[in-house]
Amino acid sequence: MATGFTLSVYPWIYLARFETDNGWTERYIEQPHRSPSEEAAMDRAEFRDLLLKRNTIEGLPVVNLTTQYGFGVFEGLKALPHPDGNLYLFRPDRNANRFNRSMAGLKMPAYPQDMFVDAVKGVGRKNLDLGFAPVYDHAWEKDDFTAGHSMYMRPFTYSEPAIGLGMSSEPWVIIIATLVSSYFRPGSSSAVTTTRIRAVPGGTGWIKCDANYVTPILAKKEAEAAGYMEAIFLDAVEHRYIEEGSSCNIFFYLKNGKLVTPELQDTILPGVTRSSVLTLAQDMGVETEERKIAIDEVMADAKETFVTGTAAGIAHIESVTHRGKTAKFAGGKMGEMTRALLKELKGIQYGTIEDRHAWMVRV
Ligand SMILES: *Cc1c(COP(=O)(O)O)cnc(C)c1O
Repeated sequence: MATGFTLSVYPWIYLARFETDNGWTERYIEQPHRSPSEEAAMDRAEFRDLLLKRNTIEGLPVVNLTTQYGFGVFEGLKALPHPDGNLYLFRPDRNANRFNRSMAGLKMPAYPQDMFVDAVKGVGRKNLDLGFAPVYDHAWEKDDFTAGHSMYMRPFTYSEPAIGLGMSSEPWVIIIATLVSSYFRPGSSSAVTTTRIRAVPGGTGWIKCDANYVTPILAKKEAEAAGYMEAIFLDAVEHRYIEEGSSCNIFFYLKNGKLVTPELQDTILPGVTRSSVLTLAQDMGVETEERKIAIDEVMADAKETFVTGTAAGIAHIESVTHRGKTAKFAGGKMGEMTRALLKELKGIQYGTIEDRHAWMVRV
């Protein structure tokens, strides 16, 4: 019997398997469900039980390289409801490409990028057709979609049975979808630097792999326990240059009018949102820089700070605390540059601003 939180996975799941002799075989599985309205009326315990069944795939091994050693990679992307009643994925080709590179980084068999895009579309479409999907609400417009809902898609690999240290040569690729509601963020959006190290040169920081997330989770929880919302990682060697938030990229709008984000290297995850924000800023005529940026420069010269990622979108950071000193940005409010970029990004994602870069793909 499930207790506490049970993940609310949508009924349709995608499952592909690689076999050395056969290559990839794909299928969609319709997991146990009732109609959305019947589910909404279900008794809590009964509904939890149904959700647990839905998040269980019979036949997948319990003991494998993913469950034992964190040997796996994943993606996260959103399908957003538009006023026209359809769902649109944000730049799925970018996630397909990164998934492919992540798998190559862990020396797994190549999963074709067009198969990825078709599969995320398929999962979105099948759940939408079943009535399991967020519906566009004009009320979201008044706060630039910070209250907007979307369908979050989570593609991930899962290894074949194994207990000895080894490579995953015949993995599954699984894609599940779930609703992301607006999460209300209570007042504070302050950040604090952590002395923990997320990624080291020569390591796996650039790969979206399972093994990278233990340290950021610990750091974020420690930051929260100390009264902050977010942890900021510094580089492993000098402990001086900014790298990332706990699982998001980070930007600084400086007093000199330049928008700076740490340059990509093997310790930094190349975010799709990061790259999109750089493009949108350039569209607005803002000078952007991808370079090393030291914590001291941020403390002295930043006038706005925000983090980016599929889950967060663009989330402003009201202050950064480092070794007991705090720098506060834009009087603790969301700054103008952050707001302008958020407006553009969300408007394009939810279909109220022209999709001039052809980023949105209908499911
Ligand atoms: C996924 C992720 C990001 C953000 O990437 P998006 O493609 O924008 O969602 C940033 N940093 C880390 C460590 C991540 O895992």
